[in-house]
Amino acid sequence: MDEVILKGLRFEGRHGVSTAERAVPQPFEVDLILGLDLRAAGRTDSLDKTVDYSLAYREVRHIVEEESFRLLEALAERIAERVLRLNRVIRADVVVKKLRPPIAGDYDYVAVRLQRERPEHRAYIGLGTNLGHREENLRAAGRRLEELPSSRVVKFSSTYPTRPWGKVEQPEFLNQVAAIDTRLSARELLRELMEIEEAMGRRRAEKWGPRVIDLDLLLYGDQQIEEPDLTVPHPGLTKRAFVLTPLLEIAPDLKLPDGRYLREILANLS
Ligand code: ADP
Ligand code: MG
Repeated sequence: MDEVILKGLRFEGRHGVSTAERAVPQPFEVDLILGLDLRAAGRTDSLDKTVDYSLAYREVRHIVEEESFRLLEALAERIAERVLRLNRVIRADVVVKKLRPPIAGDYDYVAVRLQRERPEHRAYIGLGTNLGHREENLRAAGRRLEELPSSRVVKFSSTYPTRPWGKVEQPEFLNQVAAIDTRLSARELLRELMEIEEAMGRRRAEKWGPRVIDLDLLLYGDQQIEEPDLTVPHPGLTKRAFVLTPLLEIAPDLKLPDGRYLREILANLS
């Protein structure tokens, strides 16, 4: 895996089992190896495709200087947990060295090293198109889904023609669903989907109007997310047979986070 490395970060902190160690700041050193997919950053030369290492530095400094732990294990765990939330970071290798531990003798340091990884989530993505060469649009979007960082496509459903809804006087849609396993967060994934829409020429002019490609995050593991620009499960999911049908084709036993079977929801729709 590609890596971003921050080495030999030195701070004073109050960590140790004895109260004496926590009373006076002691020197600590941290090495951080962040694992992430750097291909897009290399290709585009743009910071939003990688982790901002100044944020990683600030995160580590804040934890070592402002928080207090008895064990190096706890300090390292805390650092790993925080840096795994940084943009696109899916693996963290953390070394925390105590440069002057309270033991007599001749040695360099004592240290703890741990490696932590973001969990993988099964996500379902709805694809829709009703402009241009629709089969080709789905194929092109599918290829881009296969290129998503830290993710892999598990399955594509068949494609289903659908009469337009909402605004009805427009060409027929083709719909499809993809299952992916990903270590991206739901938010990172949504952003990738929107970039694919943009790259494929989607213009957000008209709500429910014709579109080259529409990519919706239908489900993300069993998470429920309610934020201004991100709702999971997708609010349309339980109302739209043209999404539920391809979804159930590839995952017949799928349930909503609240435990309801999607196949029962589809049966009640029709
Ligand atoms: P629709 O897909 O409902 O026809 P759009 O694709 O134009 O409409 O809407 C996209 C907007 O919906 C985005 O700005 C995005 O922030 C928001 N949104 C909220 N939750 C989701 C989700 N789960 N999947 C996709 N877009 C979402
Ligand atoms: Mg959409």
